[in-house]
Amino acid sequence: MNIRNYCYNGEKKFHLRDFDTNDTAEFSTREEAEALLAANQERMAQLQDRLYAENKEAVLIVIQAMDAAGKDGAIKHVISGMNPQGVTVQNFKQPSSEELDHDYLWRAMRALPERGNIGIFNRSYYEDVLVVKVHETLQTSMMLPDRCKTDKLFKQRYQQIRHFEKYLYQNGIRVIKIFLHLSKDEQKRRFLERIDNPEKNWKFSQSDIEERTYWDDYQQAYEDAIRETSTKNAPWYIVPADKKWFARLLISQIIVNTLEDIDPQYPELPADKKALLRQCREQLLSEDANCNPNNKET
Ligand code: ATP
Ligand code: MG
Repeated sequence: MNIRNYCYNGEKKFHLRDFDTNDTAEFSTREEAEALLAANQERMAQLQDRLYAENKEAVLIVIQAMDAAGKDGAIKHVISGMNPQGVTVQNFKQPSSEELDHDYLWRAMRALPERGNIGIFNRSYYEDVLVVKVHETLQTSMMLPDRCKTDKLFKQRYQQIRHFEKYLYQNGIRVIKIFLHLSKDEQKRRFLERIDNPEKNWKFSQSDIEERTYWDDYQQAYEDAIRETSTKNAPWYIVPADKKWFARLLISQIIVNTLEDIDPQYPELPADKKALLRQCREQLLSEDANCNPNNKET
């Protein structure tokens, strides 16, 4: 599977319609994909251990999608197998009054992963060029002073985001941006399942249906945001999401490739610390020889 087929780094023209939501690459069954997903999860765990030990780079995974595209399930699969000490998940809901009292990147800044960690943003600062663009009357942009509320607002935000992500990259944080690309039909099917299956009722909200009526506006907003904010070092991945098993596999592959590119190494001790370790080793062994009757030579 070549992840480059799903990557947009700003080099050519970009249209969402060129990406098939039902694509599954060379995989035709869930079983084939699951074997590779399991292998990727194991590899991710090994690389994450090194990332944590090296304590230099951090990884930020931004996940954006329409409702019911499978963000939560994807996140669950990505982190299963990782050491929870080195992973954080941050959800970006409607901003609180405290958050509204700050610039839109403030809450994202506060949630950035520390060195050695992997941070997952379930939605992100991109909401401020997505939902806020689709519903321009939202409080988030209404709080701004009049001089900032111009028709350049979103153009400026794309630029601010490009600069922000460049800043992160240059300061040791790799940014992976994932758009779960779902079809309108598949969203309908999943909503109906959430309504019909009592165990899934809790996942459904009436506002989901309301937002669905803005489907085309959202697709346009996503297309614009992806086109404007994809760069070589912070590309977007357009992940086909109609088949959840494929989306999960592809995301795992993207993360494995990124971690392999970072190539984290366990830190090697300086010579004096190694000498100290040898000394401690000898001390421990001589303790055994002196105190443990089972160790007595015959
Ligand atoms: P689920 O899949 O469980 O529905 P979700 O991510 O959609 O998960 P919700 O609590 O349903 O979670 O929705 C969060 C809502 O908050 C989304 O509709 C999102 O667009 C909205 N939101 C996030 N950030 C902002 C923002 N900056 N301004 C306005 N709305 C925002
Ligand atoms: Mg929702």
